[in-house]
Amino acid sequence: MKRAAAIGLLLIASAAAASPPAGPVRSRAMLITGATLIDGTGAAPIEGAFLFVRDGPFTEISTIARKRGMLSLARDVRVIDGTGKWIIPGFVDAHVHIDARSDPARMIRWGVTAARLMAEDVSRARAFALRSLSKRRSPDFFPAAPIFTAPGGWWSSQSRDRHLDRFPATAGAARAAVRKARDLGAAEIKVMNDDMSWCRDPLPRLPKIDDGVFGALVGAARELNLRVSVHAPRRADAARAVAAGATALAHGVIDEPIDDETLARMKKDGVFYIPTLDIFDFLADPQAFVGRALSDSRILASLPRGEPARLRSPSYAAGYRERYPNAAYVASHREMLDENLRRVRDAGIPVALGTDMWAFPGAGVHLELEDFVRAGYRPVDAIRAATLVAARSIGEDSRRGSIEAGKLADFIVLENDPLADIRNTRSIESVYKHGKRAYSRYRPVEEE
Ligand SMILES: [Zn+2]
Repeated sequence: MKRAAAIGLLLIASAAAASPPAGPVRSRAMLITGATLIDGTGAAPIEGAFLFVRDGPFTEISTIARKRGMLSLARDVRVIDGTGKWIIPGFVDAHVHIDARSDPARMIRWGVTAARLMAEDVSRARAFALRSLSKRRSPDFFPAAPIFTAPGGWWSSQSRDRHLDRFPATAGAARAAVRKARDLGAAEIKVMNDDMSWCRDPLPRLPKIDDGVFGALVGAARELNLRVSVHAPRRADAARAVAAGATALAHGVIDEPIDDETLARMKKDGVFYIPTLDIFDFLADPQAFVGRALSDSRILASLPRGEPARLRSPSYAAGYRERYPNAAYVASHREMLDENLRRVRDAGIPVALGTDMWAFPGAGVHLELEDFVRAGYRPVDAIRAATLVAARSIGEDSRRGSIEAGKLADFIVLENDPLADIRNTRSIESVYKHGKRAYSRYRPVEEE
């Protein structure tokens, strides 16, 4: 029964090849030949690669020399000449929020095929994430929700969770809220552990989450096998988070060198470090950051109408200076972020690239890649942080994050060599999600 159905599908696929398909587009087999493959594992590039994709995943990855016979496969195979192109895995942004309806489409346009979505409401985030899996023009989203914080603390003014208390006042309430999150389907929670003085002084310092409540949140989550991302840009807060059992630091540490004890614990537990250098660049000087992003004609051209003018307007930068007046501190500690990134990397701790970049969804990944290279990363390692390691940070590395047989065919075709200049990750010709084209520079892509 199952077998007959599969053969029927193949026949339909062959017929569809001859004439334009009526109704929903079927996934056809695809063979890309001759491109240089950077597989996301950090391995050296493979020239003249053959990528074979059928029904979503990569089915074969090889070189011309080994698999010359592939071209004589079934007739329903669409052969794409990739000569002179580079192929890298789709990016996994390990730290995003959704601010606007257009954000997912902007992310996929820049090659982001999966992302960790930080969100306030567990069930809403989960429903949104489930829908994203079947949308071509959206990354697949993996929520970290809810975002717990102190009553009146950072992020407490954002919306509530409809079903649980994300501002628990006692350890008991914290444990109950985490259990409820798990019952609603959460696989990961996020906790804020920050008075925001590093970017908001001299504004009043925000109440920080109580130590007992914090320990209860992280402890309960780990007992229930949930991942825990912690926002803690100060060294002491980050150290407390790691000691309590956090599985990821959602931002870099800005104030001082991460201590050896914390580094050792991160290494032992495999705690992910997500430096989000771009947001520190942004807060240090919003105007300069916007200028840097818009100086790339590809980023400029990708923005919605009116957006460049809005970002460049004096009131835009002034608004950030008002809400985050401690820009001088961020600017004077920017080098510490690079230093901590190198310390973490050299200690053998997994570093995942994430952006948290509200102003440039998707494009932020490319700015962050450039930041990684400026901090001392080789381009191939920066790409690995943005693909395989980021996928591992959301528990998805068995299905995505690298170009390997059996993994989902999420990949980006580039026109220029990203290892020669990391900014060439912006030379995107096309983006594929689950083996289907989700963005093309040369032709419109329709939503299924
Ligand atoms: Zn965030």
